[in-house]
Amino acid sequence: MGRVRYSRKSSAHLTNPNPETKHLSDQPLPIVPFLKIPDSGSPYLEAQKCPSCGALSLRSRLACGKCGGRKPLEPQRLSDKGTLHAFSIIYRAFPGIDVPFVSAIADLDGGGTIKTNLIGIDADPEKIKLGMDVEVVYEIASRKDGEGNEYMAYFIKPA
Ligand SMILES: [Zn+2]
Repeated sequence: MGRVRYSRKSSAHLTNPNPETKHLSDQPLPIVPFLKIPDSGSPYLEAQKCPSCGALSLRSRLACGKCGGRKPLEPQRLSDKGTLHAFSIIYRAFPGIDVPFVSAIADLDGGGTIKTNLIGIDADPEKIKLGMDVEVVYEIASRKDGEGNEYMAYFIKPA
């Protein structure tokens, strides 16, 4: 029980049939709803797929943004491999945010487009190439929430 730091229900340890079951706050929390952290295995990104036209969306919606279909969207695990679609080097940001950093958009193999920071390469437009192979990586964010919970974020880096 030593690792249980925060419990949303104080009586959870009395009713939990398996005391080894981890509470949510023992794991890093996903920084966005479409970042999935399974109990075992690697984290991954999950889009919602329109069963009518195949369009992928990173947020749940009541109708497809492409075809307007209203059939329930189906979860689809996204690839961790892709190519760099666009990038912008950020030189000015909020106080406390280290600059420069590279904000980027990547097209993932098999479908899906994500926006995040490109890491693992100098923020130098001479070194960053559109279309370069990238991979999605998952790291604990440097900041915690008010309860001390850690957050897992996703980035892309050159593959
Ligand atoms: Zn659709």
